[in-house]
Amino acid sequence: MTATTIPKPAHPAKLNASPSIDAGTMKALVYRGPGKKALEDHPRPGITAPGDAIVKIWKTTICGTDLHILKGDVPTCQPGRILGHEGVGVIDEVGAAVTAFKPGDRVLISCITACGKCEYCRRGMYSHCTTGGWILGNEIDGTQAEYVRIPHADTSLYPIPQGADEEALVMLSDILPTGFECGVLNGKVAPGSTVAIVGSGPIGLAALLTAQLYSPAEIIMVDLDDNRLEVARTFGATQTVNSKDGKAADAVMAMTGKRGVDTAIEAVGIPATFELCQAIVAPGGTIANIGVHGAKVDLHLERLWSHNIAITTRLVDTVTTAMLLKTVQSKKIDPTRLITDHYELDRILDAYETFGNAAKTKALKVIIET
Ligand SMILES: [Zn+2]
Ligand SMILES: [Zn+2]
Repeated sequence: MTATTIPKPAHPAKLNASPSIDAGTMKALVYRGPGKKALEDHPRPGITAPGDAIVKIWKTTICGTDLHILKGDVPTCQPGRILGHEGVGVIDEVGAAVTAFKPGDRVLISCITACGKCEYCRRGMYSHCTTGGWILGNEIDGTQAEYVRIPHADTSLYPIPQGADEEALVMLSDILPTGFECGVLNGKVAPGSTVAIVGSGPIGLAALLTAQLYSPAEIIMVDLDDNRLEVARTFGATQTVNSKDGKAADAVMAMTGKRGVDTAIEAVGIPATFELCQAIVAPGGTIANIGVHGAKVDLHLERLWSHNIAITTRLVDTVTTAMLLKTVQSKKIDPTRLITDHYELDRILDAYETFGNAAKTKALKVIIET
């Protein structure tokens, strides 16, 4: 997920109310301030609004955004919060207003909570829902726990089809729609076009998998890590560039006959990678930002003013989740290729170690089972 630090209207009374009943305790991964996290016993969530559902988590995962939170980059996420905004599970309990789901239903949790009724939701911009958006594991307790409360359950959960691979579906909570909506759709990837994806981590690889739905002629992956570039080759990258020599822009320009790329997808979230995108975008091209940026970036308008380019930013809206689910079901996309490691919830701190040291461990997505 691409995080935003734009403050949202306050609506804490409804969303952060304490559980209606004492439902016992559960294990949960709790953010304790920059650099600090702990696996703790935590009260189980209960229904606090008629549109809520309580989901018993089966499988969840760790996102790069969780690492940003732990660095202190996401001020909306306060100490004491249970992290996690991805997962699949089974409905344990529903509020009186929930009509689409009942206890026992298997569900995919979207990283974006949507009321379906506010002005932004009516425009399909669920990421900016006035009583939702990216709140899970940020402004309300998240999915790295045995149970999670999902507000606006009818419009924020998806039924899991019969026979679906639940592990594959965990990739649909966030990274596949994020790579696709923020990178591929915003970047206007088209048949025969040339694409560069800067960053070959899970999100960059999700963009690589979904970009191929549009048959671009070239997809060039850029990263510092040779292992990740090798993985990108097996995922369909036509060329790869290791950027550690600082000459990635020259390499991409040489690969494209000095023209540059039609779509430059930024999938890291640091100034150097966004500047690289500016250096390699062709006239008429698009820079599609996915990365969560914690620092300002220079914009080279002294060069780009005459290049007819577009720059897009987006917090994933998860408007393509149902469509992507069908591409996974029909095996057009196999997101299980992104999964490298498995841990039980009891060992989630080890899972964070593995995920946080990806250069050493070669980890992509880490599945955590409860
Ligand atoms: Zn995420
Ligand atoms: Zn809404």
